Amino acid sequence: MSDTHCPYCALQCAMRLTPVTAGSDDGFDKLNHRAAPVTVSPREFPTNRGGLCRKGWTSAELLARPGRVVHPLIRQPDGSFAEAAWDAALELIAERLRAARATFGPDAVAVFGGGGLTNEKAYQLGKFARLALGTSRIDYNGRYCMSSAAAAGNRAFGLDRGLPFRVTDLDEARTIMLIGSNPADTMPPFTRHLEGAREAGGLIVVDPRQTTTAKLTQDGAGIHLQPAPGTDLVLLLGLTHLVIAEDLVDRAFIDARTEGFAALRRSVSQWWPERVASVTGVPVELQRRVARRLAEGGAYLLTGRGVEQHVDGTDTATAAINLALVLGLVGSADGGYGTMTGQGNGQGGREHGQKADQLPGYRKITDLAARAHVAAVWGVEPETLPGPGIPATELLGLLGRPGARGGVRCLLVHGSNLLVSSPDVNAVRAGLAGLDLLVVCDFVFNETAALADVVLPVPQWAEEEGTMTNLEGRVLRRQAAIAPPAEARSELWIMAELARRLDAPSTWPTDPAVVFDELALASAGGIADYSGLSHARLDAQLAAGRAAYWPFAAGATDESEGTPRLFADGFAHPDGRARLVAVKVRSEIADVPAGPADDELTLITGRLLGHYQSGAQTRLVPELLEAAPEALLEIHPATAARLGLGDGAAVELSNEHGRVECRVVFAPGIRPDTVFLPFHFAGDESVNRLVAAACDPISGMPEFKRSRVRVRALTGE
Ligand code: SF4
Repeated sequence: MSDTHCPYCALQCAMRLTPVTAGSDDGFDKLNHRAAPVTVSPREFPTNRGGLCRKGWTSAELLARPGRVVHPLIRQPDGSFAEAAWDAALELIAERLRAARATFGPDAVAVFGGGGLTNEKAYQLGKFARLALGTSRIDYNGRYCMSSAAAAGNRAFGLDRGLPFRVTDLDEARTIMLIGSNPADTMPPFTRHLEGAREAGGLIVVDPRQTTTAKLTQDGAGIHLQPAPGTDLVLLLGLTHLVIAEDLVDRAFIDARTEGFAALRRSVSQWWPERVASVTGVPVELQRRVARRLAEGGAYLLTGRGVEQHVDGTDTATAAINLALVLGLVGSADGGYGTMTGQGNGQGGREHGQKADQLPGYRKITDLAARAHVAAVWGVEPETLPGPGIPATELLGLLGRPGARGGVRCLLVHGSNLLVSSPDVNAVRAGLAGLDLLVVCDFVFNETAALADVVLPVPQWAEEEGTMTNLEGRVLRRQAAIAPPAEARSELWIMAELARRLDAPSTWPTDPAVVFDELALASAGGIADYSGLSHARLDAQLAAGRAAYWPFAAGATDESEGTPRLFADGFAHPDGRARLVAVKVRSEIADVPAGPADDELTLITGRLLGHYQSGAQTRLVPELLEAAPEALLEIHPATAARLGLGDGAAVELSNEHGRVECRVVFAPGIRPDTVFLPFHFAGDESVNRLVAAACDPISGMPEFKRSRVRVRALTGE
């Protein structure tokens, strides 16, 4: 029996795994599924309170399913894959890496990580890229997830921790405003923490769709605002204007704890309610109700990918932070601002060095003191460390380009499915096909692996030791319940073997507990300080049903909770004050009436209850696939009627980037100018074929949440 946490989202629900004994009829055998080697039961923990969603309940099935990678695979001249010995696979990789580096320089080699990797792997991947490969070109799929909110948090507060308070603090809230977040589908047990606000009539949901979460506002439980996609920034500026104009702000807090109020006030003054209504479509009366409700105290503002995955995502998250700050919510005892991290280790994944611009401890790679500290831990000179790399989308734009002109010739992918999750996936496919070497380390044979030269099998969650950091900054132990397939090897071992073949400096431990100790040393004194933690201490906390929050500095006791609520005494800027940052609406958004041109619709994308990220894992679980077997286009019945489409009609969506085929489903709760397609599906259903590679200039976040498309019927052709 092992206590661990769910392999999927950032709520990291607590669960217990019990190995299934041969011949038993319990667990999944009873459901006549192929035998899973463990059964899953939920465990009491503050975040999930004994609950799991259907992804968590079925998570053990993936341990036994076909679709796993169980041997190293090398692509043959005829395009097929052949099983290979580890030594042959690693030697081939090392040889091509050496050749690319010798011919084009170290930046011709790149690494792409994932937000599902354990803290130990994320840390080791950053070290491996910078020391063993000598490349600056490392980034990860969290760029597509948390980068805008992270940039906004760093700018305003001087640090970024998804929720800088306990999830359970939300239970006491009078008002919770969810802006572009749909936890009722993405992390259902989280909705237990919305109940207090619902009972107080204070759940506010901002979303162009009537999502499952938006439905929770019905019957007097709250308010649903449906702004036109991409106009969230205008709405937030308008709400800030309203609370200032109606003198609902907390002047004492603004004077004592923030900088920049005068400039902020000037910047929002032009966003009076009628003008905001004309751009967003949100009625003036609803704007006033929301502004006044937020000002009554006990309120939390939570943003999600719906408002962050835009070319102005950082400024939009900043506008939400500004609103929370002028109301005096951040750092108070009963309110705040947070962002809902999506991926399982989306928080830890961005703290330990797999981001292009960061070193362990969430330090800037350009900070000389940080470079010296980390270099000393690694036993190298600071000059050995490359400078900052480039964000994921820019990096993918260099794939397959001539190495002599700064192109990337070799790519190592760890725990990411680029061919489904990246913007403009048609261009990404062409880039991947032009590489000299594509290596995919994964436990499932996903769409990206199908293009690889070498695929390496690794263990998955129930088969490995490590740590994850959840959406509220708690560091959680992941304990192995069963052994991995005989030929699978941990990424830590793979990196150590490659580092040895590449004559890399430093040491390359393969024991996760030892790697964690090094990570803790490297993080000491940084923003995300883990220096007081170890696997042994986390095991003791797990046994006691607890888990500590970072920062957790050396010297803290076993009983310490770490730091659950941040900002009570000050913000992380040197002067301890938060920054109110005046942001502007760019010309292409300002004063554009809601809705695109007549023959176009606005496409938004998102997740479904039964699937996770690119779907590479959840599409292999029969129960989940059965519940959501295809990408269905949500469309308003009136729009469908205008286009001559019946419920279930086959359609083509197209724009200048590509085309997608799918069927429609009527959704009376969506705006008539908007359609929604989930992003968990591949091939002809892959919505990211339609998404441009345009990015937020601050965070590097692509514009996933607003594409213009034409929709036409395919039926009868
Ligand atoms: Fe797993 Fe998230 Fe579902 Fe919890 S809510 S069971 S962590 S997928």
